Order: sequence, then structure tokens, then C-alpha cells
Amino acid sequence: MFRTLTLTTALVGAALPAAAFTHTGEEVDPAVFEGREILPDPWIDDCDVERSLVPIEGKENLYRHTNPFPSTHSGLVLIQDEGALVIDAGNHCAAEWLRDEIRERFDVDITLAILKHAHFDHLAGSVVYAEAGAEIIAQENAIEPIIGEKMPVAEPTITFDEEMTVTFGDYEVLLHHEPAGNHSNSMIQVWIPALSAMQCTDVCQSQTVPYMDFLDFYYPGWIETLDWVIEKDPGVIEVGHYTPATTEDQIALRDYMTELYDQVIALHREGQPWDQLWRNVDAAEPYRDDWFGYELMRFANIQGMFRWVDNHRRGLW
Ligand SMILES: [Zn+2]
Repeated sequence: MFRTLTLTTALVGAALPAAAFTHTGEEVDPAVFEGREILPDPWIDDCDVERSLVPIEGKENLYRHTNPFPSTHSGLVLIQDEGALVIDAGNHCAAEWLRDEIRERFDVDITLAILKHAHFDHLAGSVVYAEAGAEIIAQENAIEPIIGEKMPVAEPTITFDEEMTVTFGDYEVLLHHEPAGNHSNSMIQVWIPALSAMQCTDVCQSQTVPYMDFLDFYYPGWIETLDWVIEKDPGVIEVGHYTPATTEDQIALRDYMTELYDQVIALHREGQPWDQLWRNVDAAEPYRDDWFGYELMRFANIQGMFRWVDNHRRGLW
């Protein structure tokens, strides 16, 4: 029904918004994708994973799509009579499952998908959403890597620069982009004030040590983003993996990351060579017993922060 309405609107050329939602973003000219090369999807046959769509406790109409811990994908899903808003996609099979599950349980289609950032593990199945007729939102910096990396993912139809609002059924959904970058230069924070719910993929953590060596890293913007999230004090924070998190978790994460930075830059300024420096960094130590991934991520985190500091500080010469 919704798709018919949308099509009719397009045919008569009226500047009316689509039926299920309105937004303050920019329409993407599909010509930018013309002739783009697309690589084969390496995860196309990766279907042997248990999936779920679980209600978020105490949050009406709000769900989370995911798979077993540590959850290779997860994202918020907002259900309204007019359709479903889905954040991120797992792989192709997971997205097909989610599309069918939403139809079966709620009798609606996915009408809007928000792609949090241009990393393939969060976008792989998004073509399924596009094929189902959903509009696709991404931050404008996501367009370049989607084309340049030849990603087999949905082509965004709506983009924005720093802030955008979507009115989806009864809900206002605020999309925020930190211009200094964080875990990507195309990251979106999604905030639903009426539900006090936040999607903060990969930047926020859930008593988990940040991933590996801070790939695609922008340290100052990461801290800015955490401050933005902490100021909102969300009742629930979906982090794109693992389990949902709290504001307190982000305060602890901010403490850890600033301590890591402070230690690495102090030792770097002392002139310690890498082999000596990393052995003297103990920022993760207080979280050894409580945070998932300490053994696997701790050393890589020091490497990533060292790389950032080494690339960005200048002394006297
Ligand atoms: Zn990522």
C-alpha cells in the first residue's frame, strides 16, 4: 500500500513527502551511482546463523535485530502502522530473514533504513531493503567509499551533512553526525527522544573494549561523540554488536579512552620507543575482569592510539 502511494506521488511529480515518513535531508541524485562497479558479496552464502528480533524492554514499538553474542550485527527497529524503520543490516541472509520476520509479525514492510556508517559489516544486507522498496539514509560522506570500494550494498537515496530529523509515524528521530569523525567519517548517531533510545554503533561500547586497533579512527571526534551521547543520557544505547548499553558504560569508556590517550602521548613525549612504550601503558587494567575483549583488544588498542599520536603530534625541531 505504502509503495503504491509513493509511486503515485512520484508519478504526479508532487513535492509531497512519502506516506510513512518525512525528513529534512537531501535527495541523492541516482546519477552519482551510474556505471559504478560492484564486487561480489563475500558473505552471500553465510546463512547458518541464528537470528532474532527482540523487543527492547519498556520501549513500546522498539525492537533490536541481532544474532548470538558477540553479535556480528545488531540495530534498532521501530515499528509503526505505516512501516518499519530499520537501522543497519546484517549480511544478505540476515536482512532477508528480518524483512520476512517484520512482514509476518507486524504486517508491514521496511520503508526506511538508516545505514550508520560505510563499513561493510553494517551494510552487507542493505540491498535487500532497497529491493523491498525502502528509502535508504546515509551520511553524505558514505557515498564515496560505497562507490570507491565497490561495495555490494544499497545506494543511499537520502543524505545529510550534520543534523537531520525524520518524522516516522508518531516519532521524531534525530540523526546526528560528528564532523570531526570518530570510528568513521560517515558515522550517524540516531536518537529517539520519546523512547530515550540511542543507536551509537561501534563508537559506544557495552562493557567491551573498543575493537582492535581503532581502525578508521578519529580520536577527538570520538570523545566529542561520547560527550554528545552522555549529555542525552539515553535509557538504552544500542551499540551495533554485543548487548545494549547504558550511559554509565559510555562514561567509563570515555575515562578509558582519554586515559589511554594521555598515557600514550606522555610516553611518546618522553621519547620511549614502541617496544618500551606499550609495556608501560596500563589504561585498560581497571577493566580487565569486567569488560569483554580485554585480552584480544587491549594491545591492539594501544597500537591504534600510538598510531594516532605518532601521526598527529609535533615537537620542537
Ligand atoms: Zn565500523
